[in-house]
Amino acid sequence: MKTITRSTCCYCGVGCGVLIESDGEKITGIQGDPAHPANYGRLCTKGMTLPLTVASKTNRALYPEIRINRDSERQRVDWDTALDTVALKFADIIRQHGPDAVAFYISGQLLTEDYYVFNKLAKGLIGTNNIDTNSRLCMSSAVSGYKLSLGADGPPTCYEDLELADCVLFAGSNMAWAHPVLYRRLEAAKATRADVKWIVIDPRRTDTAAMADLHLQIQPGTDVALFNGMLHHLIWEDLIDPQFVAEHTDGFAELKQLVRDYTPRMAAEICGITEADLMTAAEWFGRSQGALSLYCMGLNQSAHGTDKNLALINLHLATRQIGKPGAGPFSLTGQPNAMGGREVGGMATMLAAHRDITNADHRAEIARLWGIDTERLSPTPGLPAVEMFNAIRAGKIKALWIACTNPVHSMPDLNLIREALDTAEFVVVQEAFLNTDTVPYADVVLPAATWGEKSGTVTNSERRISRVRPAIQGPGEVRGDWWIANEVARRLEAQIHPARFSLFGFANEEQVFNEHRRLTEGKDLDITGLSYGVLESHGPQQWPMPIVEAYGETRGQARRYEDGVFATADGKARFNVTPYLPVAEPTNSRYPFHLLTGRLRDQWHGMSRTGRVPRLFAHTPEAALTMNPLDAERRGLKAGELVKVSSKRGGLILPLGLSDEVTTGSVFAAMHWNGQFLNSGGINESTIGAVDRKSFQPELKHAAVRVERA
Ligand code: SF4
Repeated sequence: MKTITRSTCCYCGVGCGVLIESDGEKITGIQGDPAHPANYGRLCTKGMTLPLTVASKTNRALYPEIRINRDSERQRVDWDTALDTVALKFADIIRQHGPDAVAFYISGQLLTEDYYVFNKLAKGLIGTNNIDTNSRLCMSSAVSGYKLSLGADGPPTCYEDLELADCVLFAGSNMAWAHPVLYRRLEAAKATRADVKWIVIDPRRTDTAAMADLHLQIQPGTDVALFNGMLHHLIWEDLIDPQFVAEHTDGFAELKQLVRDYTPRMAAEICGITEADLMTAAEWFGRSQGALSLYCMGLNQSAHGTDKNLALINLHLATRQIGKPGAGPFSLTGQPNAMGGREVGGMATMLAAHRDITNADHRAEIARLWGIDTERLSPTPGLPAVEMFNAIRAGKIKALWIACTNPVHSMPDLNLIREALDTAEFVVVQEAFLNTDTVPYADVVLPAATWGEKSGTVTNSERRISRVRPAIQGPGEVRGDWWIANEVARRLEAQIHPARFSLFGFANEEQVFNEHRRLTEGKDLDITGLSYGVLESHGPQQWPMPIVEAYGETRGQARRYEDGVFATADGKARFNVTPYLPVAEPTNSRYPFHLLTGRLRDQWHGMSRTGRVPRLFAHTPEAALTMNPLDAERRGLKAGELVKVSSKRGGLILPLGLSDEVTTGSVFAAMHWNGQFLNSGGINESTIGAVDRKSFQPELKHAAVRVERA
């Protein structure tokens, strides 16, 4: 019998609603959900092919597996043996070396309920904040940017603004490929309104840039100089809103002092663009009724990612392009649930519901809500991703539990990551797929359910919480991620903190969600008015949605800060002084090329899902290093021949592709290709682990490399 299950796409932060068709055993089809406000029935090629990702058991992790020692193969075991082994080993290491000798590296692909249990396990039971996630590689600079300027994490905007903006500024985002369904909404809006201007800031001429009214093809990493130059011009042309600045912000005088030096000519020279183009961009932005900036990894994955975010938000605050329809800074979430993970505090530098680890009152609140002694919660922030792997390499962290992510492909400077996992005493990998680059390092494999098989919630880029529902039962003995974490937690609790009442008495994911929403009461992301029942009856909802609103007309808040009151203590937004600083690793005579990295249209992350779908290779069949034809000619290189691209840290061999989408002096490689397809871990063999000192996000978008005939 055909069944339709309403759920959500698991790929990107657009968070499209889907209708899954199944026959009880297999998923037989998929459609976009016409009722979902993210996509109104549209899906991109990745979403359309989701059923094919779960059609086969090949390379699925089906059963728990353990290896006795590093020289032996992993063997199948039953769940109790696997769960007991993990709990006992963690307990042993915690007793010997303390709570900070263990760590968790989890994922923006996890559902909010999964994230919640992992976070409570690390912080509430073990007492370590060493829990970080691949969201550190994705959105952490956007988080720092929002907190330092607006006072709280989360975008002030919503998807309706896509249709309402008359100036759309894309910064470091190839939205046509990375967030295709939202891009189609923008295209449709532009087609009906002649007054809409698109500005694209990108060192590459991407498909998005090709459609722009103005493409600012800046030198890599010079975004802050550009934004400072634009602000200089806005001030000069009297296009700022002095009343808003005076009444609703703080710190403008100091910023004005800084940008006095960033004349359009000087900024344009740094960026490698014309002064006229910079001034045009500033005027379109400043004179529009609604200026919306859409930004992504091009700003975030940088050693100065927070400053890039802040310099852009400075423009919005100075011109009052915020808190009104069609305007505001809008970070496009990379992963499907990077936002949900932050909501439950599932990172090394935060506590649940946007609370801070270093704030004693916040720790006391969480301790009270969890029913534990405040002292159980460590006041010291944990180690963010890059530092976490460095600490494993140094022998300080002995045990690592990796869930739903593939660091041996996605982290920068892969040689160091492999060294770290070789050094670790105990590695647990919780995964749905066995052919990732990280699984060979696992002492224990815990088989996880994946899309179409699991249940919970996710939050998309516009703060909208949607249900993820299972259409079929997963194969073999796979289990939901929250269940696995919960079962280990109960066993570990018996070892290290036996109590009359378990912190992990959850019987299902709804109970986990209910505890999570209780923790949000009174906070900026209050969702006490939201429940699985409300999601069932009213569909996906945006936070905040406090209980008072749940039974009235309001269904969650679409746009934030419309009253000009920000989430800071005094209600005023902050301007931040953002001097331009160059990339972490400038080019030189030995490494003369800027290596740029990015996405392909039809692939996702390390391809553990999309790599299972042959038709998704039609758009880009194989890996390549893209070089400008003039650079190739100078070096006597030809399209299709194999070249070695290498940095100080490592390299890989790729076929050469020629295109003027990159300027001379730059080369581009997609991030997806990995050990399944290459004799290396992919382009992160060459990238650099330099991080932004405020967000700890690494500079995955740029490294200095050389290119030689292989
Ligand atoms: Fe899925 Fe993103 Fe495509 Fe929507 S745009 S179908 S969420 S991959």
